[in-house]
Amino acid sequence: MKTQLFLSSAAVAITLAACGPAEDAATPTDAETSAATETRETAAAEATNPLLAEWDTPFGAPPFSQIEEAHFLPAFDVALASHREEIDAIASNDAEPTFENTLLAMENAGADLTRISRVFFNLTSSASNDEIRAIQREMSPRLAAHNAAITLNADLFARIETIYNTLDERDLTAQQRRLVEVTYENFTRAGAQLEGDDRERFAEIRSELAGLYTQFSQNEQADREAWTLSLSEEDLADLPAYIVSAAAGAAADRDIDGHVVTLARSSVEPFLQTSPNRELREEAWRAWYSRGSNDNANNNADTIRQILALRREQAEMLGYESFSHYRTGGTMAGTPQAALNLMEQVWWPARERALEEAADIEAMIAADGLDHELEGWDWRYYTSQVRAERFDLDESVVKSYFQLDKMIEAQFYVAERLFGVRFNERTDIDTYHPDVRVWEMLDANDQVVGLFYGDYFARPGKRGGAWMSSFRAQNGINGDIPIIVNNCNYNKPAEGEPALVSFNDASTLFHEFGHGLHGLLSSTDFPSLAGTAVDRDFVEFPAQIYEHWLEQPEILERFAVHYETGEPIPADLLERLMAAGTFNQGFATVEFLNSGFVDMAYHLHEDPMSLDIEAFEAEVLESRQNLPQIPMRHRSTHFLHTFAGEGYSSGYYSYLWAGVLDTDGFEAFREAGDIFDPEAAQALYDSVFSAGNSEPAMDAYVGFRGREPRVDALLRDRGFVEAEG
Ligand SMILES: [Zn+2]
Repeated sequence: MKTQLFLSSAAVAITLAACGPAEDAATPTDAETSAATETRETAAAEATNPLLAEWDTPFGAPPFSQIEEAHFLPAFDVALASHREEIDAIASNDAEPTFENTLLAMENAGADLTRISRVFFNLTSSASNDEIRAIQREMSPRLAAHNAAITLNADLFARIETIYNTLDERDLTAQQRRLVEVTYENFTRAGAQLEGDDRERFAEIRSELAGLYTQFSQNEQADREAWTLSLSEEDLADLPAYIVSAAAGAAADRDIDGHVVTLARSSVEPFLQTSPNRELREEAWRAWYSRGSNDNANNNADTIRQILALRREQAEMLGYESFSHYRTGGTMAGTPQAALNLMEQVWWPARERALEEAADIEAMIAADGLDHELEGWDWRYYTSQVRAERFDLDESVVKSYFQLDKMIEAQFYVAERLFGVRFNERTDIDTYHPDVRVWEMLDANDQVVGLFYGDYFARPGKRGGAWMSSFRAQNGINGDIPIIVNNCNYNKPAEGEPALVSFNDASTLFHEFGHGLHGLLSSTDFPSLAGTAVDRDFVEFPAQIYEHWLEQPEILERFAVHYETGEPIPADLLERLMAAGTFNQGFATVEFLNSGFVDMAYHLHEDPMSLDIEAFEAEVLESRQNLPQIPMRHRSTHFLHTFAGEGYSSGYYSYLWAGVLDTDGFEAFREAGDIFDPEAAQALYDSVFSAGNSEPAMDAYVGFRGREPRVDALLRDRGFVEAEG
């Protein structure tokens, strides 16, 4: 569900340590000495540091077996310095600014910094440890300062502005023109037009924020990893076998005897769905929703206030009414109001449905002869019972038809049918962990046009959720193929057992692979326009539309086969599974919107330092008559989307926005009567999957669909309005 989208290549490359080393030196002697020392150390570092050497590996993939933590800081030092030199050379060029000597030169600058950053930040998410966390704490603010120094480089901006202001007089291709426009906009949004003290303060804010984002996510991780719930023999007896086995695996991972539930969503959520022990459910539920808000050193309340205040200050400096106005200004939605309108349109029908779901659950509690109120920790448990009763879907039976390996095959099969690409596993390519698998992507001419890494299992040191990121973006200038990675957090099965996943897990797999294909199929002229470097409220569209193929009988009958017998999923089970698709959508939509509304409200608030985080959450939720049993999907103090970075800050609504696009978009295939309709697939490839940010998002969508998106299909898909005919 959650994607970690790295900055586009140029944005990562836009990085420059703010210090001027020569000016810092007190005397010429000091300067000479320090320069000499620096040269010596740099030379030594370059000679032995694999991060700075050419990667003589298949497709230039990262040589993980040679990379050690100790290589990162010296490599970053060298790469930052060389990027700074490259940028200085562009900015101080005496020649008149041209596309080639400015924009193209910027695209090509910072190659080392980009590849080192991508390797490093993938490790911080997927294979972190104390050493990596320490480097991350040091590097995040330095990289932010480096970025800021580039966007605030007045000479550089003057060149970009000159080109931007004379676009019509220049003979540029459509993508060259687009690159100029996007770069100009990125610079102005990053404060390039600021002057004097404002510039300095702006850079300071960027750097402080970067440090706070790291702190926020490390606090969440610390709280999440500190908690486990040990299960007794008696507790285990009531749980399905797959949960018992996962609990044994989780305990073994942590060198604990017996069985534990952890706060990874893949562990705690199934437990909440299946444990009849109401007290344990409450304990797990409270721990899960309290991450970051406990009375300990990991409390994120103050981190949130500081982040919000700095974001507001930054937005005001740029002339925006609020951070929300600033953020939505650069998206497909355009304004906070447009995003809020969409959420409101869906909220009331969703809430209505959630109330009906609550009534069903209350009836079951009464039927069990119990007289307690319906609480948050009851919802998932009874819902899975209602679900089991109404659709007769036993999660462990369903899971026996969803083998992870088969679902991986299915995601590749859909790509082949839609886009004509094939995937071959490679076992000769270095990975950062033995669980990671690598495939090459071949086009119709059997050329390798991409590398794909799949890192599917949860483990300590890996953050929660699922995401796509990249080790290298498609590069239309030098012909580099993209290197893309998907991360999920499925429970690793015990040795010798197959990995079985839930239907939801399989959807997540398809979702992330949709992002993956957006990177892999990219075919743009410039890395800054490649793949997922699109508007944030458009970026989920390729991922979410891809989920629809998993739901098609044509795919499930073929790939959802029993792990022991190989029998395809029985027709009646498939029918019930599909019918269950709209089930509990009231809850799912309400918990999502709760997070969306709170995210938006925070960033419209005028005085964030005064906020009492928990009271503010409650106030926002109550203002729309929220159901008390449905909290935010991600409560503020562990709302990584919003506070661990800026990807989804004031932008959590994007998932819903993309939901409108994906349901409306998939209708194109339904209308054609063929889920692989070649014409629709070609349009989807041309305007979306291969197009990156080569045109504005709305134009891309209209290019694919022939018209602007409509909300009808989403309301129908979620069962909030009657389907026609
Ligand atoms: Zn996503």
